[in-house]
Formats: sequence, structure tokens, C-alpha cells
Amino acid sequence: MDLHGIEQVLPANLLDRNLSSWRAGDAWLGGGTWLFSTEQPALRRLHDLMAIPIGSPIAEEDSGLTIRSTCTIAELQQHTIAHNDWRAASLIGKCCDSFLAGFKIWNAATVGGNICMSLPAGPMIALCVALDGTYTLRSCGGEVRKVAALDFTIGDHDSILAPGELLQIIELPAAGLRRRVTMRRFSLVKDGRSSVLVIGSHDTDTGAFALTVTAATSRPVQLHFDKLPEKQQLRYSLASKIDPRLWFDDPNGTPDHRRHLTTFFAEDVIKVLS
Ligand SMILES: Cc1cc2nc3c(=O)[nH]c(=O)nc-3n(C[C@H](O)[C@H](O)[C@H](O)COP(=O)(O)OP(=O)(O)OC[C@H]3O[C@@H](n4cnc5c(N)ncnc54)[C@H](O)[C@@H]3O)c2cc1C
Repeated sequence: MDLHGIEQVLPANLLDRNLSSWRAGDAWLGGGTWLFSTEQPALRRLHDLMAIPIGSPIAEEDSGLTIRSTCTIAELQQHTIAHNDWRAASLIGKCCDSFLAGFKIWNAATVGGNICMSLPAGPMIALCVALDGTYTLRSCGGEVRKVAALDFTIGDHDSILAPGELLQIIELPAAGLRRRVTMRRFSLVKDGRSSVLVIGSHDTDTGAFALTVTAATSRPVQLHFDKLPEKQQLRYSLASKIDPRLWFDDPNGTPDHRRHLTTFFAEDVIKVLS
């Protein structure tokens, strides 16, 4: 839709821009799939990230995968992983497929935009948290900080980003990508918005297991175990370590429904990885 309040769309030139010129009513523009999908009465200027000439959106090294925040979902989905031992790379395509979306969203939406939206159903959030990803953020003043993906999203449509702070780079470490993984997802309709997304990851070197819960909770939750847990231990951890207030409530599912399905999927994930 047209955003009638917007007065300027500026190319976001990271090297030359006057960092102190950020002001109230400014926003970063990624693919614009959310920004242009609803009214934005508070916004006056958009800083267009896609106008910055960049190199490859994805770099694959032995140490892991580096994804620029402006990488589109389609580019990520089309990237062929060269490392044969990155078993968890199968998650990438599955998470790209986990949007309530068609080709228009896939081709325009960016990985960074999805993460910064911080919706419970953000599949790029699920991917990055499950693989122990880190984000590089750059403030208006030019300071750079790195944060764990798990700590970035703090609620429904809420993140730790300060005003004007930019998500620049997403890194997925090789150690995470080498794990065995299984994902389970529920949405009310085919290709719909996720209401529960559960990912289990098993480090076959150390035996450690991590369960990542997104979409069912208002922010990502991760449970860690020294080894694949028994059913009772898993149920106990889910019941005792997830704050009951975190179970998300919206037209896609009640908190009870989401808690029930999360437990069901988590048990299934353990069975598959055992
Ligand atoms: C039909 C439809 C279906 C959708 N389905 C889903 C879904 O299933 N799951 C889901 O999570 N979302 C969904 N969305 C919401 C949204 O389209 C996606 O989250 C998308 O990935 C956002 O990416 P974008 O690049 O288009 O972000 P934009 O719309 O450009 O920006 C989104 C927000 O992030 C900020 N932002 C963007 N990039 C950066 C950056 N690098 N650093 C700091 N801030 C930044 C923007 O200022 C804005 O506030 C859907 C939207 C539509 C219209």
C-alpha cells in the first residue's frame, strides 16, 4: 500500500551517511513486505538498505555461514551448501518454506527484516536460534556489538534493537550446522503462519541436545540437555522451564493448544534423533 506519511526514501549508505542524522520517524527499509503491508503513521523517512551495492549476500567458510541482513529469503533458499558435513543445513530450506507467503514475499523479504520484525512466527529467528547464530548490530553512533540470536528477540514484535540500530550480519557457526536436526511445525492452514515451530538439535560429538521453541511462545525459548532426554525429563523441563506467560495467544492458537503441540512435537523430535 502507499504510505502517505513518507516524505523521503534515502539510500542507506553505511559508509558515508551522517550517522547522527537518524531521527524520530525514521526506519530501515529491507524488502518492505511488512512496512508496505500496513499503515505506518509514525514514519516519515525510510533508509533503503537494498539501495546499497553489496557483494555476495552469503559467504560459506569452514567456520560457518555468513549472511548479510539484506539477503532475501529466495537467495538464502537457493544457496547450495558446499560442506557435506553440515547436516543441519537442511533446516535452511525448511525455515524458508515456513512463511505465510508466496513468491512475492520470498523474493522481496530479507533475512534481516524477518529477524528485526521479531514476530513469534519469524522462521529466520527459529533457524538462527536453533543453530546458535549471532548477529552483528551497528548503532547510530557507529558502535558495533555482537549478540546471540537467542537474546535478540524479547517479545512479540519486540527486540533489543535501539532506535536507529541496524542488523548488519548474521553468522551461523559450523558447530551448529554440523548437528543432527529435526523440525516440526504446525499452522492452521497449508503454507500458513506457524503457530508452533519446534527444532531439536543433537551434537553427536558431545551428546548434547537442544530444543528450540518458537511461534508457540512470544519469544524464542531454548532448553539444553547433556544428552537426549527421556520423555519424563523432557516433559518436566517443558513444564518447569518455560514461563507460562510466554505461551502465545492469537487467532492461530490458544496458549493451551500451543503448549500441548509443543510437547507432542518435542517428544517426536527426540524419537527421531534417538
Ligand atoms: C502476506 C504476508 C505474509 C507474511 N508472513 C509472515 C510469516 O509467516 N512470518 C513472519 O515472521 N512474517 C511474515 N510476514 C511479515 C514480513 O513480511 C516478514 O517478516 C518479512 O520477512 C520482513 O522482511 P522485510 O525485508 O520485507 O522487512 P521490512 O518490511 O522491510 O521491515 C520490517 C521491519 O524491520 C526493520 N528492518 C528491516 N531490516 C532491518 C535491518 N537490517 N536492521 C534493523 N531493522 C530492520 C524495518 O524498519 C521494519 O520495522 C508476512 C507479511 C505478509 C505481507
